[in-house]
Amino acid sequence: MDGLLPLLYLLASVTFVLGIKLLGSPKSARLGNLIAAAGMTVAIIGTMFLYKHNGRPLHNLEWIIAALIIGGAAGWIMAMRVKMTSMPQMVSFFNGMGGGCAALISILEYTSATQSDAPLSIGHSLAMMAGLIIGAVSFSGSIIAYLKLEDRLSDIRFGGQQFVNNGLLLITFALGALLVIGSVSGLPMLYMLSVLALIFGVLFVFPIGGADMPVVISLLNSFTGVAAACGGFLYDNMVMLIGGILVGSAGTILTVVMCKSMNRSLLNVLIGNFGSSAGGGGSTGGGSYREVTAADAAVMMAYANRVVIVPGYGLAVAQAQHVCHQLEHELEGKGVTVLYAIHPVAGRMPGHMNVLLAEADVAYEKLIEMEEINADFPTTDVVLVVGANDVVNPAAKTDPTSPIYGMPILDAELARQVIIMKRSMKAGYAGIDNELFYRPNAAMLFGDAKASLSSLVNEVKSL
Ligand code: NDP
Repeated sequence: MDGLLPLLYLLASVTFVLGIKLLGSPKSARLGNLIAAAGMTVAIIGTMFLYKHNGRPLHNLEWIIAALIIGGAAGWIMAMRVKMTSMPQMVSFFNGMGGGCAALISILEYTSATQSDAPLSIGHSLAMMAGLIIGAVSFSGSIIAYLKLEDRLSDIRFGGQQFVNNGLLLITFALGALLVIGSVSGLPMLYMLSVLALIFGVLFVFPIGGADMPVVISLLNSFTGVAAACGGFLYDNMVMLIGGILVGSAGTILTVVMCKSMNRSLLNVLIGNFGSSAGGGGSTGGGSYREVTAADAAVMMAYANRVVIVPGYGLAVAQAQHVCHQLEHELEGKGVTVLYAIHPVAGRMPGHMNVLLAEADVAYEKLIEMEEINADFPTTDVVLVVGANDVVNPAAKTDPTSPIYGMPILDAELARQVIIMKRSMKAGYAGIDNELFYRPNAAMLFGDAKASLSSLVNEVKSL
């Protein structure tokens, strides 16, 4: 039986890699998730019954099983109850739990190391302190991100914030380094390190707002992966190490991609320079806007050569993806070319629009990424903005005081006609007015996206 556990770990590791590969497309993502979850189950059960420490099997199985039941039930209930629009919050929350677990592993391992006579190697101390700091930052940072995404907390900024944050980070690293080399030791010092890291996680995410949230979410995700990998190193557990590294590297790649999309440098992200350009400005102070009826909008689109749909967070709120696909179908029946313009941070999580539209069976080749479609807007007859706001706000290009200044946007304003579907003139996530709404080539179609799209479908059908 001794060789079985490594084999199970190998099998589980393969399922993780396969799972990530399958997550690359919305069509295979569900299967990928299931395969990786099955691999994780095999690894957990294998560890419970086959793992031996100094020749002895695990002796606290009843605690492990009780924790599995409580955690599994809580996760199951949360996942079954969560609304599609609250998925980003839940992902953030679960990510925080992963970071917290990794930090607890370090605390427990340090505690048992102080109780035994065997000296700690530098490598083990390093993995312990790194796991503790990164895990604790990920835990508290993710909880703050969760509260922000839930709209229960707004951005908090104060004078000298960057100085405080960087100073605190420096002190945390210094104490961690002293614990690694053994210049200071003992549980009180370790608890102090935990508290410092937790406070840093909170302060680090406090000022981040508007366009920068997606970057910090993927960064915290990669932190949790790295912290878990440290745990794998501590336990000499290959599957934990591989799983952690996979999450850490996938999260890092996503962070880099997000940074590129948001026009932020990674260094800027790492030293906590988020949102510093904000200054709370960016409002155009309103103006006069034009309204359009569903009947008029239908005529504009049905007689166009090319219509580009810009989906945003409101599409997810209204759950209007199916009726949106129906509109596309009706327009194509009239000989109109219909494409979707996908902004990398539209919605509230990376890939949100891709997932939503794939759920409605929109053909993947119709989803065109921002860099590619931006050149086509000047030759587009009608742009239909469905519940999007920040991702089409020209202030990102023109107003240096705007919190989204510098973020690349979809150049919808360059099209001949822009129809914006939303319920009111209210701002989007970044909390700023959108001058696109007041442009002469723009018109508002007020109402819930699902209801408005249904009216459009009926109007187009009747033409
Ligand atoms: P926005 O949040 O900018 O705008 C969404 C708009 O949808 C709102 O103005 C709202 O207007 C409208 N809306 C809401 N519900 C409905 C409904 N039922 N029917 C019709 N309209 C509706 O979304 P975008 O997708 O344009 O931009 C995403 C923003 O979220 C960016 O600022 C991004 O940085 C941020 N973000 C993105 C994350 C990601 O990973 N993708 C993560 C965290 C934040 P009204 O109330 O008037 O209807």
